Parts: sequence; C-alpha cells; structure tokens
Amino acid sequence: MNSLALSLILACSRGAPERSAEPEASVDEATQPDIVLVLVDTLRADHLGVYGYERPTSPHIDAWAQGASVFDRAYAHSGWTLASVASLFTGRLPHQHRTGHAPVADGLYCPLPDDVPTVAEQLRAAGYRTGAFINNTFLAPEFRLNRGFEHWDWVGSSNLEHRSAADTVAAALQWMGEAPDTPVYAVVHMMEPHAFYNPPEPFLGTFSDAHPLPEGQVIDRSTIVSWQTYEALPTPEQRDRLIALYDEEILTVDAAFQALLDGLEARPADRPTLVVFTADHGEEFWDHGGYEHGHTLMGELTRVPLIVKGPGFGAGRFSTVVSHTDLVRSIRRLAGVAAEPGGDLQGIAAAGSYAGPRLSVSENTLYGPPRVSIVDDGYRLDIRQDKQVVSLWKVAADASETQRVLGDQANALARPLFGQLIRIRGDAEPLASMTAAACSTEIPDPEVFSQLEALGYLDVRPEVPLDQAGGEPTGGGASAE
Ligand SMILES: [Zn+2]
Repeated sequence: MNSLALSLILACSRGAPERSAEPEASVDEATQPDIVLVLVDTLRADHLGVYGYERPTSPHIDAWAQGASVFDRAYAHSGWTLASVASLFTGRLPHQHRTGHAPVADGLYCPLPDDVPTVAEQLRAAGYRTGAFINNTFLAPEFRLNRGFEHWDWVGSSNLEHRSAADTVAAALQWMGEAPDTPVYAVVHMMEPHAFYNPPEPFLGTFSDAHPLPEGQVIDRSTIVSWQTYEALPTPEQRDRLIALYDEEILTVDAAFQALLDGLEARPADRPTLVVFTADHGEEFWDHGGYEHGHTLMGELTRVPLIVKGPGFGAGRFSTVVSHTDLVRSIRRLAGVAAEPGGDLQGIAAAGSYAGPRLSVSENTLYGPPRVSIVDDGYRLDIRQDKQVVSLWKVAADASETQRVLGDQANALARPLFGQLIRIRGDAEPLASMTAAACSTEIPDPEVFSQLEALGYLDVRPEVPLDQAGGEPTGGGASAE
C-alpha cells in the first residue's frame, strides 16, 4: 500500500487543471426553459427501478424516465450534504468552493465563501426567478448556499422529523405559479431517504415485515449509532429491515415526484420545462463495512441518479461518467449563462458524443480520515490523504465497486488516474484552503446546532478503521484481479 502510494507520487507531477471538449446541446437559446431541479437526499441510484433495482420502489420515476436522458454513471462530488450541494449550487469541486467540513478540526464547518459565485446568482442575473425548497439542516442559511435565491424556503430537520416531500412539492408549485410569465429556477429538496427511516402510511409495510414491529426488534437510535460508529454490526434481519424501510422512503419520494410532475403539467406554460432528478449522495449499507454516509467517497455514496428531461435532453441512456459539475454547465448553457472560464470541466447533453477523458472527482469527508477520490470508466482511485495511502477498485458493469485491485497491476492502473487527479486538483493533499480562519468555529444558530446534534452529526466518531473496512479485500466480492 505505502509503496504504491509512494511510487504514484513520484511518478506524477503537478500541472494545470485540464479541460476537455464538452458536447453542445442543440437548443433554442432564445427560449429560456423553466428549470426544476429535484434533489433527493441520500438516494442511491441502484435503489431505483430505472437503475435496475429489483424492488418496485419508483414506478412513477421509472415511467417518467422512459422519455428522459438517463445517466448510468453520474457522480456527486462528495459523500455528504453540505460539500456535495455546494458543488451542485456552484458548479465547482469542493477544493474550489471550499464549503464543507474543515479538515483541520472536528465540528468545524466552512460556509460558502463570498467570492464563489452561485448558479442561482447567475440565473437570477439572466432573468430567472430563483426559489429553493429545502429541508436539510446542513443547508441552513448559516451555510450561505442560499445566495442567489430570492425565495429560500428552508425548514430544518432532525432524524425523526422533517417537512414531507408532499408538502415541499406543494410549496414549490405554489411559488412557481405566482409569476408564470417569468422563467423559474426551482430546487425541490426531499429529505425522506435520510436516516432514520420512518416511512409514512400507506408506504410503511410495503417491503418491510411485521408492522408494528415486534417488541425488541425496533431499530432504535442507539443501535443505529453503534452501526454508524463501527461499534456493532446488524444481524441479517436488522439489515434487511433497515433497507426495506429505506426503500419505503423512496416510495414516498416517488409519489411526491409524480405530484410535482402533475403540477408542472397543469401549469399554463409558454416555455419548455427542464426537469432534473438527482441526489446529493447515496447511503452505505455495509458495502465496504460501514453504514450511512459522510465517511467515504466510494460509489455507494457518490454515485447518484441523474435523469434529465427537457430541451436538449430526450430519451436516451448514457453509460459515460458524468458529474454534478457537468450538469451545472448544461443548466447554465440552457439558461443563456456563459460558462465560467476554468470553472467547469465538462458538460452533459443527450445530443453529442463525449470527447476527452470522462472523470469525476469527489472530496471532503465528514467523518474519519480526510479523503479524495477519482473515478473513470473502469476504476476508482481512493486516497486517504492524511497518510497518503491509496486503494484502487474496479468499477463493475453495474457500477458497483467491490473488487479491489492489488499488486503491480494496481500500480500500473492507478498511475494515470493519479495523474488526472493532480492535473485537476493540483495535489492530493487535504484541503488546505479550508482553514480555521475561513470557517465557522461553531454553528451560529443554537437551534441549527441542536438539529445537527439530533441528526447525529455532532457525535465525534472514533478514528474509523477505513483501511480495514474499505481498504482490504472484503468477503466474497474482492479479488486480486
Ligand atoms: Zn444529504
């Protein structure tokens, strides 16, 4: 491991960020579409029917996706909310927007710096009404991702309570209908798949068994925290029940999404509508030994659904690697906003071929050691930054990443990926730009602080044994290839 890391570092030199040619969508730029970005918290792509899941968690999403551009290999730029959404809202990678968890100390968070422009600001300047309907406490106004939104409808949440997706959709539709002559950029965030999983009626019991759960079999908070902190593992029955409840939360999202589509359909519209369906990150169910999110950058946390329908995005299926910053570039182009020089790497569109190497970089872990990761068509290179330890994983045809590559073959395959990472990022070090001086030493609002505590985010986890959990071959799936 260490010799691999050393040889990689010696083999690669620093360089300027690399840009590749981006495809151009054939759209009428004189018509600014309404842009509706549906952002589901904590939704793994592979738990949707459209991405091959065996359970019918998403009948409405699946039906809508039939006429949409479906991206099979889409990635968020971090594995937890604040850092990931900052990339989605700015079109920049975490080391560029410097928003998230400061690597210098536990419990230190960096709000969006004033010098980083937002997509909402740019679309508002281009004539859009901008509104966001948000339910995650890590998106509280204190983190400043509301900049550029003239209407920021934020409701804080805990793991037990949050505004429902149905109510969020209703609020968004009402706001969109208030000034139908002006194009809108609306972000509709749904919190349901975030832990703890408490699916409402009538979805509770669709996939999970025994409701009400037998005495003693309820998954309580202390049990879940023990899983989050690697102190315990679930029984097979507990794991199955947990995933079934998570899947029922997806059903809740699916119903709310259909209500949103119905509402959009019912509007008097004299312009096209672009609807984007994606997530800020996924959820780990012990794919690499851990549970929940924020602690790694592996595919179960960074691969997200990305389904786009509207001008420039017709029916199609794409297996190329794309990312949230690619999506932002396309949103800007459709809105008539010029691309930021050097700010984006690539764009997506259903029309064109995809030139150049397709990569996605993810950064900024919330728990455990600092990490950075890069994935291409075939492999993921994951770097634990505090010790400069790397691991290489093969990306399977279904986009899972359970097969570790070892030995000389790993060294040879990892070198070009490491070179791409250095060209994009400058180095593989922890985020020096996110220092104590630039970040809040505490969450300013006591209420926000208490909500984060209720979410479990202020628990100081032990040094997570990620090299045991994710760095070593795991049972069954791993091989030396
Ligand atoms: Zn999230």
